[in-house]
Amino acid sequence: MEAQFYEKNEDHVSCTLCPHHCSIALGETGICRVRRNENGKLMAGTWGKLSALNFDPIEKKPLYHYHPGKIILSLGSVGCNMKCKCCQNWQISQVSAAEYSFSHTLFPMEVIKLATSRSENIGVAYTYNEPTVWFEYMNDIARLVRFEGLKNVMVSNGYINEDPLLELMRYMDAFNIDLKGFSEDLYRKLTGASLAPVLHTLKLIRKAGRHLEITCLIIPGMNDDPGTFREMILWIERELGANTVLHLSRYHPTYKLDIESTPARKLEELYRIANEKLSYVYVGNIQIRDYQDTRCGKCGATVIRRMGYQVELKNLTGQGTCLQCGNAIINF
Ligand code: SF4
Ligand code: SF4
Repeated sequence: MEAQFYEKNEDHVSCTLCPHHCSIALGETGICRVRRNENGKLMAGTWGKLSALNFDPIEKKPLYHYHPGKIILSLGSVGCNMKCKCCQNWQISQVSAAEYSFSHTLFPMEVIKLATSRSENIGVAYTYNEPTVWFEYMNDIARLVRFEGLKNVMVSNGYINEDPLLELMRYMDAFNIDLKGFSEDLYRKLTGASLAPVLHTLKLIRKAGRHLEITCLIIPGMNDDPGTFREMILWIERELGANTVLHLSRYHPTYKLDIESTPARKLEELYRIANEKLSYVYVGNIQIRDYQDTRCGKCGATVIRRMGYQVELKNLTGQGTCLQCGNAIINF
C-alpha cells in the first residue's frame, strides 16, 4: 500500500506523517522501520499485517471514562516512531516489518466481521505498538467501523503531524495519549522524539471534542520531580481542562532501563499534586486502595468502583451523569 503522507524528491522521499520528517533513500526505511522507499514511492509496509488481536477490557487501554465495563477488539502491528528505553512492547515496537513474523493478515472487512461477532464489543482499538506508523490500515478500518456504528479508539504517543491527525479524527472517537513527562530534554533522552508536537496533538484532540485520556508512566529519577510534574499538571488544567482524565502508571524495569520500580509513596505524592488541580486522576499498574475508583468531580460521590479490570457502576445514570448532582462524568 502506498503511503498517504509524503513528498517525492529526486533521489529520496520525505515522509510527512510524523514530526521526524524522515528523508528516506531508495530501499531504506524511516525511523519507524516500517515505511519504506520502494522505487521512489513511500510504502506503508505493514498494511493488513497484525502482531496482536485480542478482545480486551476497555479499562486496559486504559480508558476509564469511556464505556466502562465493555470490551474492545484491540489490534497491534509493528514499528514505532519513538525509541523509548522503557518500552513494555519493545518486541513489536522496535523491529522492522521485514524481520517480523506476523500472526495475522486481515483485510479491513475481516476485522469488521470479527468486531461485530460479539455483541458486547464496542468497536476497535488501535494499540500495542504505535498505530500512527500504520496510519493507512488504521484509517481504512476506522472508516468501516464508523459505518457499522461502532467506536474507534487510538492509543498513541501523540507524535503525529497535524494533517494526518485531522484526517484520523474524522472517524476516531476516543484517544489515550502518552505524555511521558514535561521537558524536551526528557523526551530526547527517553524517546528520541520531542515534547512540543505531543502537546499540540493533545490540544487538537481536545479542540475537536473527541474523548481524551492521558497516561503518564512515572519513572524514578526521570520524570518524577514534583516541580516539573506540577508544571505539567498546570498545563493540562489550563490547556485541556480540569476534567481531563489522567492515569499515572507505575514503571517496572524493562527493555533498556533497569532503574528500580516506582515506589508506591512516590505515586501517592504525585497523585496528590495532580488531584489538587484535576478531578479525575488514577494510579495504575499497582493496587493502591481507592486510586482506581471514580468519584464525581463535583459532589464527590463514588460512581465507579474498580478492582483490576472488574467494574461496578454506582450512582450513575444511563447517560453517564452523577445520580446525586447531575454532573457529566462518563461517555457511554
Ligand atoms: S512515520 Fe516513520 S518514516 Fe514517517 S516521518 Fe515518522 S518515523 Fe519517519
Ligand atoms: S511510544 Fe510506546 S510503543 Fe513506542 S517505543 Fe515508546 S513506549 Fe514503546
